[in-house]
Amino acid sequence: MSFLIVSPGRDPKAWIKALENHHPGLNIYTYPEEHDKEEVEFALAWNHPRGLFKNYPNLKVIASMGAGVDHITSDSEIPEDITITRVIDDRLTEDMSVFVMAQVMDRIRDLSLYKEQESEKKWNPVSYHRIEDVKIGIMGMGVMGTAVGKRLAKNGFPVKGWARSEKEIEGIDTYHGEEGLAEFLEETMILVCLLPLTPETENILDKDIFEKLPKGAYIINVARGEHLVEHDLLEMIDSGHLSGAALDVFREEPLKEDHPFWEHPRIKVTPHIASMTKAESVVPQIVENYERMKENESLKNVVEREKGY
Ligand code: NDP
Repeated sequence: MSFLIVSPGRDPKAWIKALENHHPGLNIYTYPEEHDKEEVEFALAWNHPRGLFKNYPNLKVIASMGAGVDHITSDSEIPEDITITRVIDDRLTEDMSVFVMAQVMDRIRDLSLYKEQESEKKWNPVSYHRIEDVKIGIMGMGVMGTAVGKRLAKNGFPVKGWARSEKEIEGIDTYHGEEGLAEFLEETMILVCLLPLTPETENILDKDIFEKLPKGAYIINVARGEHLVEHDLLEMIDSGHLSGAALDVFREEPLKEDHPFWEHPRIKVTPHIASMTKAESVVPQIVENYERMKENESLKNVVEREKGY
């Protein structure tokens, strides 16, 4: 019985070290090194080559290295009986809350704008927003969205949340489904996307949604680049309907050098760093699931294949 790590472009050293610490003696293979495919029952993956896993006849579990699983669920060749798991980690969730909070604070007090003005030696005060006046709408009220919402609400922001199913979360106005979307967007001055990427949510941040936001609204996308229709965002910022965007995720990463987002004065680019998985922190739950698989017990943090998250 062996454990396979597949993470092209990501150095697996920290994962191997953490796995050896938490499960001494585990037989670990690292793709694409030579290994016996028949032996592998558990894989830890990030951006695996499409179609790879169909060649592992005894594979039972694919564990995502992070909270997102779209890199696994989008591979239609993964057999239906393979269990997919994700990471739920307090540290990851906390880091996301801090990042979104930082972006929100930057926006409401125009810190990036003043940095820009400073580079031009320009002294130009603008009126600022106060916390209680800035309604924040979070798309996706799962692990991350709920934590981000609670953090913002605790700091005095009026917060709205939108999910697929109905929810009751203290201090947050919640909406759900297509029928709740328009009301959720109304008065939302900062829209935060924390949806998983699925066929239903792909391209969701489009002109239609932006038009339903009030003039001057701001977009923070920390979910996936494929949620955003890029030319719609550029059009809506350039027309003055949106005041700008902070983007952490992109359709193609790293963002190409000639991409218009780099140079756009109202778009802030960060290199997918909102919340980064730390191997040492999440390996205990991976090892626990490995043990559970061996004992034929139900696993933790299982992805619902039909929902895609
Ligand atoms: P969860 O699976 O816990 O939550 C997903 C939420 O989205 C749920 O509330 C779900 O609704 C809602 N949702 C899903 N589909 C729809 C839909 N069609 N319409 C409305 N709501 C929908 O995910 P997490 O909170 O853990 O993570 C969210 C995403 O954040 C990840 O998938 C990943 O892409 C991104 N991420 C980005 C990072 C970064 O560094 N930039 C780091 C970590 C994660 P319901 O509750 O009703 O099911």
